[in-house]
Amino acid sequence: MNAPKRCAVIGAGIIGTAVARELLQRFDGAQVTLFDKEDHVAAHQTGHNSGVVHAGLYYEPGSLKARLCRRGVSLLQEFSAEHDVPYEECGKVVVATTTQEESRLEDIYARAVANGVPGVKMLDCDGLAETEPNAAGRAALHSPHTAIIDYTAATEALARDFRSNGGVVRLSTSVVRLQNKGGKVLVYTTHDVEEFDLVIACAGLQSDRLARRSGEEDDPAIVPFFGQYFILDAQFDDAVKGLVYPVPDPQYPFLGVHVTRRIDGGLMIGPNAFLSFSREKYRGLGFDTPDALSIARMPGFWKFASQNLATARREIGGVLSTKKFVEEAAKLVPNLTGAHGKRADRGIRAQAMRRNGELVDDFVIQRRGAALFVRNAPSPGATSSLAIAEYLVDEASQ
Ligand SMILES: Cc1cc2nc3c(=O)[nH]c(=O)nc-3n(C[C@H](O)[C@H](O)[C@H](O)COP(=O)(O)OP(=O)(O)OC[C@H]3O[C@@H](n4cnc5c(N)ncnc54)[C@H](O)[C@@H]3O)c2cc1C
Repeated sequence: MNAPKRCAVIGAGIIGTAVARELLQRFDGAQVTLFDKEDHVAAHQTGHNSGVVHAGLYYEPGSLKARLCRRGVSLLQEFSAEHDVPYEECGKVVVATTTQEESRLEDIYARAVANGVPGVKMLDCDGLAETEPNAAGRAALHSPHTAIIDYTAATEALARDFRSNGGVVRLSTSVVRLQNKGGKVLVYTTHDVEEFDLVIACAGLQSDRLARRSGEEDDPAIVPFFGQYFILDAQFDDAVKGLVYPVPDPQYPFLGVHVTRRIDGGLMIGPNAFLSFSREKYRGLGFDTPDALSIARMPGFWKFASQNLATARREIGGVLSTKKFVEEAAKLVPNLTGAHGKRADRGIRAQAMRRNGELVDDFVIQRRGAALFVRNAPSPGATSSLAIAEYLVDEASQ
């Protein structure tokens, strides 16, 4: 492929913004336009997440997640230092509270070592007490370099850098569809049509819809899963030194309710994971009729739902009752029992599902002519964003 002169990126979340910046850096003299339907960057997943820079503990060795997470951490750390983005290596413990979880923790440790995560070690009860005095469990895995960051600030810094190098950001501009034509790609927005040599779509929660409107198949489709957060009163700010996570349920792609230090110094618990009846409503009932109907029409959804009733029953308690939610966290950090605080905006995950009801674990990228579609970029997507950007531009160059 000749170096593209005119490139477009759809979606100004952290991945799209990183891709737009990477295109500008990689292709000399290229004009790059970044589109987003909202009036600010990081409006969706990027601005509603846990703010954790994952070290790469859990991911299948050799998977895109495993490779791009490790590379992403180095790039993000470097970028944050250069651009004054708040970043703190507070460390993390994954705590096993049963013998069954202990054996699953050994598997996670083996994966972490295979993925080259630096400094990880297994701790017994005493080791846990030394590292994270208020956490309780039979054993733990310690990852000293897991960090916290402000992902909105990181995306704003990426966008500033992009703009200052000549990139164009078109906010409040919804892209309706893409069309490959004569080796170029037409971008149809709600205002106009523009022609580009290369387009990369990073539309997060809307990625399946944009792909479908552009003539792509609807497999995988996006199923939204919300996660609630609870911010504890200031008196609990020092309850933990770093991040405290449970051992994740291997049947479910989410990490379980954890106790998270925030980069602003506060302490938060969450997120849980439950099917969301809207893709972009962060408050109130969070119900959107078209979004709910599109879930009900997904071929694989009912199979997935019938296979996950037990998990849904377990999660619904914490969704309906703040007390239950706090109790979940107090299993890991007992002095949080009865802790008070307030609910924050929920986050909504874009989780891809196959037609057969399987949730897709790894990042998924599809190519059609001169257009690339990111079809699945769940956690650790924010951690991996700068590495995903490198990877996508490499793919586009081939
Ligand atoms: C609750 C929760 C907790 C998480 N915790 C972490 C964590 O701690 N660490 C981590 O690494 N990852 C975490 N993640 C995952 C991470 O947030 C995502 O992987 C990452 O933000 C994805 O970035 P993105 O740019 O692809 O998507 P988004 O941030 O969702 O951005 C997509 C953008 O596309 C725009 N868009 C969509 N359709 C159109 C259209 N038609 N026209 C124009 N614009 C459009 C949207 O407005 C949006 O701005 C979490 C996610 C959630 C939801």
